[in-house]
Amino acid sequence: MTVNAHLRELYPDANGWNLCKIIVLNDCTLTAVQLTERIQEHGLQIEGIRSGDEWPEAKLYLFTDVVKVKKAIGKGFEAAHVCKTEDAVTIVISSSALFNTDDDQQSVKPGAAFPFVKAMMTVNTSLRRLYPDSTEVFNIVLLNDDQTPSAEEKLRESIGTHDLEIQEIHSIGGDNPVPYLKALRAKLYLCMDTERAKEAITKGFAAAVMFKPRELILDLFSDAPLRVAFDGDAVVFCDESERAMHQQGLEAFLRHEQEKEDIPLEKGPLTCFLEALGMLQQKLHAEDCPIRTYLVTSRDATTSGARVMKTLKSWGLQFDETHFLAGAPKGPVLETICPHIFFDDQKRHIESAQEHGIIAAHVPYGIKNE
Ligand SMILES: [Mg+2]
Repeated sequence: MTVNAHLRELYPDANGWNLCKIIVLNDCTLTAVQLTERIQEHGLQIEGIRSGDEWPEAKLYLFTDVVKVKKAIGKGFEAAHVCKTEDAVTIVISSSALFNTDDDQQSVKPGAAFPFVKAMMTVNTSLRRLYPDSTEVFNIVLLNDDQTPSAEEKLRESIGTHDLEIQEIHSIGGDNPVPYLKALRAKLYLCMDTERAKEAITKGFAAAVMFKPRELILDLFSDAPLRVAFDGDAVVFCDESERAMHQQGLEAFLRHEQEKEDIPLEKGPLTCFLEALGMLQQKLHAEDCPIRTYLVTSRDATTSGARVMKTLKSWGLQFDETHFLAGAPKGPVLETICPHIFFDDQKRHIESAQEHGIIAAHVPYGIKNE
């Protein structure tokens, strides 16, 4: 509209032939009258409103629906995907976490974050079926951390080969990606670099470093439901209790938790991602929800578990399953859950997960990572 105003000023006699014309294709639930009112409310200059998905003279289509974008491109039009990222749950992933980029092949092999991305896409399909006009879906953004000249082209090729729903790729030439996370509205940042993840957490973002099992068997990770497993202390919760355990031992830790049973723990680095999953779960049908969350903690169910459950209640958050292992190894339980991603702050639990064929994400936060 601003460009049009300049053009009118420069060429007052052009009779409108040189102006940008905007046609709204009404694919929402509003009637044409309601839509016209909205357009007038915002003072927009729209050439016209049409029904259907096509306007044959269009130079560019913008859709929030990726299927419509693909359809328009297939018919030879220029088209782009528009995502209201303030509504979306944006997951920023380093290309080296999504694909094995050390491969010389044109189309690279799936990496540690690949099954997680596929499962998020399945959730998006359910969300779009229920809410075709909503942009509250997972939005996956790729940070190209490969500096070779053909890297971006190779990534596009791989995204196409694996039919991944990724519209945004940022190639930042080896620069630190953390300053971009705010602009990208990252709800979660997954990478292969501990220092980057640490810095992101310091800046208030949920972040983790991806670890693949020794052998990634994709067939084990069915796309639905999306299964996300979290450790408790220093992941969903702050590291206050882990600090007591580390500095004073088990007895002191149990006493500490009993004394503070009614005082909720502070939030941890991954709480905001758990909240985002909860928000999407509420939009989906509970009986057949395509998202499932798990708490897998070394705490015991009674003495130290009580504070955890009271804390979650005070936040209005809950897990679909809780596993209080009382110090037992996490690997066997995780093997049964087979999560698309498991977050933990302690390397020994990450290693145990890897030994059991689990994709783990290390959260470099708290006393165990100082
Ligand atoms: Mg922990």
